[in-house]
Amino acid sequence: MNQKEKAAAINRQLSGKTAEEVLHWFLSGNAGETAFSTSLGAEDQVITHMISESRLPVRIFTLDTGRLFPETYDLIDLTSKKYGINLEIMFPDATEVEDMVRSKGINLFYESVENRKLCCQLRKIHPLKRAFAGLDAWICGLRREQSVTRKDLQLVEWDEGNGLIKVNPLIDWTEKMVWDYIRNHHVPYNKLHDQGFPSIGCQPCTRAVMQGEDVRAGRWWWENPESRECGLHKRD
Ligand code: SF4
Repeated sequence: MNQKEKAAAINRQLSGKTAEEVLHWFLSGNAGETAFSTSLGAEDQVITHMISESRLPVRIFTLDTGRLFPETYDLIDLTSKKYGINLEIMFPDATEVEDMVRSKGINLFYESVENRKLCCQLRKIHPLKRAFAGLDAWICGLRREQSVTRKDLQLVEWDEGNGLIKVNPLIDWTEKMVWDYIRNHHVPYNKLHDQGFPSIGCQPCTRAVMQGEDVRAGRWWWENPESRECGLHKRD
């Protein structure tokens, strides 16, 4: 059985399980070394809470691109303290970022899709690859209804680009389910969510959305919807 088939088999095995059960299965080492990559978004805060409740040991890491909102830094601090977790913060390589900014400018991402993807590559993908060293599986908080680019996501799938099993425990959750959980369990969340930001990334590439707009309409809003992914969740 190759890795893609193995992921598909796990997907079938865990289909219908609750998010907590899926997390417990992975954090018990059934698929090897598993870590959680959090963006501190609402879904990821739900997962952090569930992991903390499970008391199972797990590496939790996040990416500091250097362009985050002040509110996101506040949430990193609050979350680490509330749950007593050692949140690993991955930074981009300073020389790579310096070279990019010198040749293309500090706000290069508004100039072209290529520039934007280069910035995401250096500030997000490269640090993420370093964080993935030694892992067999990674957990993230993607949901199908978040975006046109996420409609065919699976609960468990093979992430060919990163050579890892990818687990999306909240795959079928609705936005309402996420927020009900946050309120019922007093989960800390980014204050920008109360100001019209359903999806929060880097400050220059995120804006508030209007009521009724797609939840990811405020991310890289100047690009076509089909290209609005940073590359972290690239699929076959
Ligand atoms: Fe750069 Fe924007 Fe991507 Fe952040 S989201 S890494 S600022 S292009």
